[in-house]
Amino acid sequence: MTRLSDRVLNMATSATLAMAAKTRELRAEGKDIIGLSLGEPDFNTPDYIKEAAIQAIHDNYNSYTPVDGYVELKEAIITKFKRDNNLHYTLPQIVVSTGAKQALYNVAQVLINPGDEVILPCPYWVSYADIVKLAGGIPVEVQTSIATDFKMTPQQLEAAITPNTKMIWYSSPCNPSGSLYSKEELRALADVLKHHPDIYVVSDEIYEHINFTENGHASMAQFPDMFNRTITVNGVSKAFAMTGWRIGYIGAPESIARACNKLQGQVTSGANSIAQRAVITALNEPPSRVKFMIDEFHIRRDLVLTLLDDVPGFVNNTPEGAFYVFPNISAFFGKTLKGTTINNATDFSLFLLEHALVATVTGDAFGDPNCIRLSYAASQAQITEAIKRIKAAVS
Ligand code: PLP
Repeated sequence: MTRLSDRVLNMATSATLAMAAKTRELRAEGKDIIGLSLGEPDFNTPDYIKEAAIQAIHDNYNSYTPVDGYVELKEAIITKFKRDNNLHYTLPQIVVSTGAKQALYNVAQVLINPGDEVILPCPYWVSYADIVKLAGGIPVEVQTSIATDFKMTPQQLEAAITPNTKMIWYSSPCNPSGSLYSKEELRALADVLKHHPDIYVVSDEIYEHINFTENGHASMAQFPDMFNRTITVNGVSKAFAMTGWRIGYIGAPESIARACNKLQGQVTSGANSIAQRAVITALNEPPSRVKFMIDEFHIRRDLVLTLLDDVPGFVNNTPEGAFYVFPNISAFFGKTLKGTTINNATDFSLFLLEHALVATVTGDAFGDPNCIRLSYAASQAQITEAIKRIKAAVS
């Protein structure tokens, strides 16, 4: 019998990837499933970025790269942080990793000691809790709801802090709720942290460009008193349609960046060379070059909300960014639909898969048991058909 480690046995399987696997299985059986479960843009990587990768292959970028990334890429990241976020990082504060996911994993491994608590405003991205637990940390969930636009209030933050609190982690725009913290809201959280100078903040900004407001994007590190205790995480997967290229990065206090570099040196030896060269081009070009994708997500966001408003039992929030909606579907709990009793969000998500042939993700995976997540990284025709099917299945 295989004797696996407790570490991996105690880990949850990524719910989004599990749903994707189930979708593939059902499709292989010939079922016409519409997939609204994956957090992946349905666009191709733009040609100007692909050309840069092809050039890098011809230029023989085939050797190991510096562990923390090519200097030219780190310079492009510094320029991007200045241009888009008014953040002023230096070369030793930047580390390039194999996706934002590895960047987050590195941060957990270099900062968390067993028993350290990490505050996670719920709903949170599916992998945070397990990344924290793998490092021996304890996720401390702070429940939010539509009433606060799925955002943690300063009072909730204050109440969640204990002598063991090491960090708070959040994404803005948020996966799965699509909510954005405004500058004022971040300042109010930072004001709480003023009284707790040893707590770090991990600000996951991977959906930064997918923002439908006029107000732009706010970063915790923009506040001078927070710069030296914030790890800003970003990457190219979402706004540049580059999920498979696997490039993410951090801007962080130098000691933390150095520790991530040390860890990465023993684990991956650095991110893929060709992808790094392509990302230099992606970041050096102005974000306006990918705006056509953001505009399309905006149209789809409006379409999804209009259609869902017409489905009984769905209570919807208006997400301001990313490409997800996160409706509260608890009105169905305790009801029997087509012979299936719905006790929780997982039952409901599985019901939709079986009876509407639409793949979604249960809110349980994101620490919110009352909601499900629908991704609108799908064509307008697919979205329209999916919600028509959902309405028919629950009516
Ligand atoms: N952070 C959030 C909030 C995400 O939604 C994702 C991907 O779904 C990631 C990080 C990971 O991104 P990457 O593809 O760069 O590893």
